[in-house]
Parts: sequence; structure tokens; C-alpha cells
Amino acid sequence: METNIRSASRIRNLACSSCGQQYSSFELQKLSGCCAMPLVSEYDLSEPLSKEILAKREGTMWRYRELLPVLSKSNIVSLGEGFTPILELNNLAAKYELSSLVLKDEGQNPTGSFKARGLSMAISKAKEFGVTGCIIPTAGNAGVAMAAYCARAGMKAVVVMPRHTPAAFKEECYWYGAEVHLIDGLINDCAAKVQELNADGGLLDVSTLKEPYRLEGKKTMGYEIAEQLNWSLPDVILYPAGGGTGLIGIWKAFQELKALGWLASDIKLPRMVAVQAENCRPLIDTYTGKQANAKQYVGKPTIANGLAVPRPIGENMMLRVIQESEGTVMGITEAEMLEGMRELGHREGLFVAPEGAAVWMAARKLITSGWLSPSESILLLNTGSGQKYLENVTGQAGIR
Ligand SMILES: *Cc1c(COP(=O)(O)O)cnc(C)c1O
Ligand SMILES: [Zn+2]
Repeated sequence: METNIRSASRIRNLACSSCGQQYSSFELQKLSGCCAMPLVSEYDLSEPLSKEILAKREGTMWRYRELLPVLSKSNIVSLGEGFTPILELNNLAAKYELSSLVLKDEGQNPTGSFKARGLSMAISKAKEFGVTGCIIPTAGNAGVAMAAYCARAGMKAVVVMPRHTPAAFKEECYWYGAEVHLIDGLINDCAAKVQELNADGGLLDVSTLKEPYRLEGKKTMGYEIAEQLNWSLPDVILYPAGGGTGLIGIWKAFQELKALGWLASDIKLPRMVAVQAENCRPLIDTYTGKQANAKQYVGKPTIANGLAVPRPIGENMMLRVIQESEGTVMGITEAEMLEGMRELGHREGLFVAPEGAAVWMAARKLITSGWLSPSESILLLNTGSGQKYLENVTGQAGIR
């Protein structure tokens, strides 16, 4: 009986990402009390756990339940997120003479983006803690995902997004019954509005990294990459970085899999590349020393709405991943994103989000510069479906 009720989570505690101070994972937590920085989940990985358990598990991110924070299965709020395919891009590999080019297609997730992973986890934990309503500042996809999972959990949903966000994002939120506020500005302006709307703290703020569990949903991409590639890893992973949860989460997943022994202890981990829009490149400017940090960075809108995050709270965590993995950063223009969308569409039958197209163009530029060798194995993350971005790209399909 026990196994039907308990998910057998091995979560042990949370730790401040800045100073390491520990916090209970059995109480509702937001940012760390010590440094006001993101909290990171820690698990007991010392007890042996056989990866054979995965063989009969469901094809969703919940197949890794021992390594996830939800304590009781009954609290899982799921729409079937995760376990997205890794597709071989053989046509593009041939055109550019690359040995191995694959794309993990996160556009196939519920609500059309990888935000489903993070919000499924955050809303499941919110349910576990008895939360009755959630609020989020969003560039689009996160708000849609939160609205869907809140609807499924019977929670109130308040979404704050830029007015210029394509209609598809707004409309889908309405269909999930969310309260939507439109703001003139970018996601940081939406965050200020969230503070104002939620001054009494009646709703749980599920902003990127301001609660601990969206990160735990996003990290499952790292588990899947390892499992789907048969416990080997690519040489390089390219990720479109906004708030950075995926970049940080994938790297966290690799460390956990090594600690568990599911990945060999001497495995060479991938170099992690953070791709941003030239219109909003706070991480690049800090990485290249143009600014001390992104706290005052001013960004412009981009057709890759998810990359318009001017002041990410997880900046230092992202920089740490780039440094530890010997990765790099790359900026992509609006025109380059459109070119990438056309190329992935025309050559591979994929209608990717501009964020995913940016990642492919970054690979091309890094090959041209010599940072990436054509003989290396390359994994692109397409984080969303192109369908919601029609307003941003309509009429540009045929222009060459
Ligand atoms: C949110 C988003 C991103 C950026 O993700 P972060 O976790 O904020 O780095 C990239 N692509 C798409 C499609 C998104 O919706
Ligand atoms: Zn701290």
C-alpha cells in the first residue's frame, strides 16, 4: 500500500544557491532567507538505486520520481509532460558536414513548450503545501503552462505578461480560466506588477527560481538526455537562456546522475552554451565583462519572447554552469532567428520557436568560429513550438 501513496522521493533538504545554508524541503519556501537567492533541492543519492527501475515506467518526466521533490503521488498534477523525442537532423548534418546533430523537441510538451515541466512540478508542490492560488510574471509560455496546471489542480491563476506578447499566449490563458494582466514593458516590469498585485502574499509567486521546484521539473531534460542517449552524453549542448532554469537544471541533473552512478564517474560532461537574443543579452554582457552584473541591464523585445529576460535572478548560477562546463555564450539577431526557423522548417519539417532557431544558428556560428568542431556531437534544445509565435513571423517563411 505504502508505495501507492508515497512517491519514494529522496529529497532531503533545500540549500541556498549562494552560501549553501540549508532549509527544510518539508515546508513552503521561496527565496533563501540568508541571501534572498534561489534555493536548490538536495537528495539522498548515497543509497543505491538501480536504473533498471526505469524500464517499466511511464513516458513522462515522472518516471524519475525518486529524484523529484513531490512526496505523495496524489499531489502530482500532470498533463503528460516530458520524455520528448531526440530527433536526428540528418539533412542539416549533411549540408554542414557534421558528424552528429540532434534536437530534443520540447515543443511537443503539453501547452507547447518545456515550461510544462517546471510548472507541472511547481504546481504539484504547491498542491502538496495546500496552496490555493498562484501568480506569475511571464514572457508567454510560462504563463500558459501555469494557467493550465492551476486549472487542473483547481487553483486560482493570475498571469502578468507584456502587452506585445502574441495573442495565442494570452488567448490560451483565458481558455484555462486565468486572470490575465497586460503590462507595457518586459518581464521585469511584469514582476513589479506581480509584487503590487500580490502585496498581501495571498498567492504563491512562481516566478523563475523564486520558488525551488520549477528547477526540479526542468532538470528532467538532463535525465532524459542521458537515458535516451543510452547513458552517454553529447560533446556540446546549446540552450536558449532567459531565466536559465533549463541550463542550470540540466547541469544539476548530470551531477546527480554521476553521484548515483547512473553516469560513469569519469564521463566527460557536455560543454554548455547559453544562447541569447542580441536584443536582450544580459548574460553575454556580464560574461564578456561589459558590465559587472545584469542588475541594471535594459533589454529590448525580441521575436523569441522567452529570451526577453533582462535581469535574471539566476545569473550567477548560469555563469557557474558555463564556467564549470567550459562552455560559452552566443548572441543571435532577429534576422538570424528567422533564417534558422526557415532552415529547420524547409530541411527538417520542424516548426520551432524562435528560441529553438536561435540555438541552431548559434551552433552554425560556433562551427564557423572554430569553437565547435564538425566532428563533435551536438545537441540542440528546441524549447517550444513555433505555432504560438505566428504573429511574430507571419509572411517571412519564403524569404531567402
Ligand atoms: C522561457 C523560455 C525560454 C527560456 O527559458 P529559461 O528557463 O527562462 O531560461 C526559452 N525558450 C522558450 C520557448 C521559452 O518559453
Ligand atoms: Zn545564503
